Amino acid sequence: MRVLIAGAGLAGLSCAKYLVDAGHTPIVLERRDVLGGKIAAWKDEDGDWYETGLHIFFGAYPNMLQLFKELNIEDRLQWKQHTMIFNQPENPGTYSRFDFPDIPAPVNGLVAILRNNDMLTWGEKIKFGMGLLPAIVRGQGYVEEMDQYSWSEWMAKQNIPPRVEKEVFIAMSKALNFINPDEISATILLTALNRFLQEKNGSKMAFLDGSPTERLCEPLVDYITAGGGEVHLNQPLKEILLNADGSVKGYLIRGLNGEEDKVVTADIYVSALPVDPLKVILPPVWKEMEFFQKLEGLEGVPVINLHMWFDRKLTNIDHLLFSRSPLLSVYADMSNTCKAYADENKSMLELVLAPAAEWINKSDEEIIAATVSELEKLFPQHFGGDNPTKLLKYHVVKTPRSVYKATPGRQSYRPPQKTPLKNFYLAGDYTMQQYLGSMEGAVLSGKLAAGEIAQDALAPSPDSSDRQPVSLVS
Ligand SMILES: Cc1cc2nc3c(=O)[nH]c(=O)nc-3n(C[C@H](O)[C@H](O)[C@H](O)COP(=O)(O)OP(=O)(O)OC[C@H]3O[C@@H](n4cnc5c(N)ncnc54)[C@H](O)[C@@H]3O)c2cc1C
Repeated sequence: MRVLIAGAGLAGLSCAKYLVDAGHTPIVLERRDVLGGKIAAWKDEDGDWYETGLHIFFGAYPNMLQLFKELNIEDRLQWKQHTMIFNQPENPGTYSRFDFPDIPAPVNGLVAILRNNDMLTWGEKIKFGMGLLPAIVRGQGYVEEMDQYSWSEWMAKQNIPPRVEKEVFIAMSKALNFINPDEISATILLTALNRFLQEKNGSKMAFLDGSPTERLCEPLVDYITAGGGEVHLNQPLKEILLNADGSVKGYLIRGLNGEEDKVVTADIYVSALPVDPLKVILPPVWKEMEFFQKLEGLEGVPVINLHMWFDRKLTNIDHLLFSRSPLLSVYADMSNTCKAYADENKSMLELVLAPAAEWINKSDEEIIAATVSELEKLFPQHFGGDNPTKLLKYHVVKTPRSVYKATPGRQSYRPPQKTPLKNFYLAGDYTMQQYLGSMEGAVLSGKLAAGEIAQDALAPSPDSSDRQPVSLVS
């Protein structure tokens, strides 16, 4: 079957990959001139890469790791020591670590927490452990129920001292969804904690050995094309054209550079667009349907990714760092962590600025100036004195709407991959899967969409004729 997929982010490419495996012919049409969506990267005039986001791969990403295996590119994941490293704002330039010993879960996680005495007192650790008991005992069912609370509300409900939130969970909340604990759903942090505590290597982190576009998206495209599929850039979906019964008749693709718009048709259609552009492009008659109305409950959160090249080495740490700065979330010295960006003499810091709502409309110069002030606290030894470090150049990449904002109650708005329309499916990190808005979630959503399509193609499900008819009465 010929399957047309709009969007060449991880969800669209993963959907195409698994459709090839199932013997179908995917055609992926991407709006931009670059692959990867939120993992897209570009080379500047000096040949240096800059990226949409600082991306970390976790041991708790089974579908992503499986994909690397299937593409035979596992050696591109550079696994780091099993630890989490936090800056200590009260002692500028110092770090506190949670080191996970090489023993089974959850004991390795408990030992990591118990051995760290810089950030939490014994009393705080015990109260936090007791607060977590219902999640440990009742599992994912409890975790999902807690979607009604923000993390701050959940902590208060469990009588966990507010200092625990301040010390550890502001940093984790910003890292997971680019927002603070008073906004993020408790389900998000509980899901991550559950995975990290239950799987021995769940919280182990890897960096890709180069740009995600070259090192992950290109092998995906090679796989898809070798299997008879196609991937085309500069092909923006402008309109979804409908048949009389409300199913999809074709995709209208906007002509660029003076070219005419064109209609492309297939047997099956997939949207692998992020939720925000999908909402804009939905045909009016679909907007009346409850299934699509729910999308109104989802909205992308702003985030900014910074790259700063310095005239010297600021740190030798080869790992992700939780800044615990009010302005920044996580950061890494990519000259240490990533093979293709390696430099023995100079640092390239990649930093995530979050929450970014107040910064997204500011100029790059303002953003960089504020970040330099933060770096003075993170690296006091390099920014003061007679010979302070020099910023050689920078790139600022703004994403005004990135992953869906995971505030309380959002789980019930996330749609499944199979829609009520007989020939239209959804993929994307915002669609329902057990992972959150993440690379793992995107890959899994594409795989699930491909699975639904392949299954429906083999044996049209008895309920396919019962799928909700679309009212064409406006
Ligand atoms: C700063 C930042 C840091 C992150 N860090 C991490 C991390 O460390 N770990 C992690 O797991 N995840 C991380 N993420 C999240 C991760 O990048 C995303 O969850 C994932 O890449 C989303 O993939 P997707 O395919 O669902 O969506 P997208 O990547 O957004 O792909 C959608 C594609 O659709 C295209 N498109 C849009 N409109 C049209 C149209 N009209 N026609 C055709 N194509 C269209 C877009 O151009 C895009 O290519 C981070 C994200 C950001 C922004």
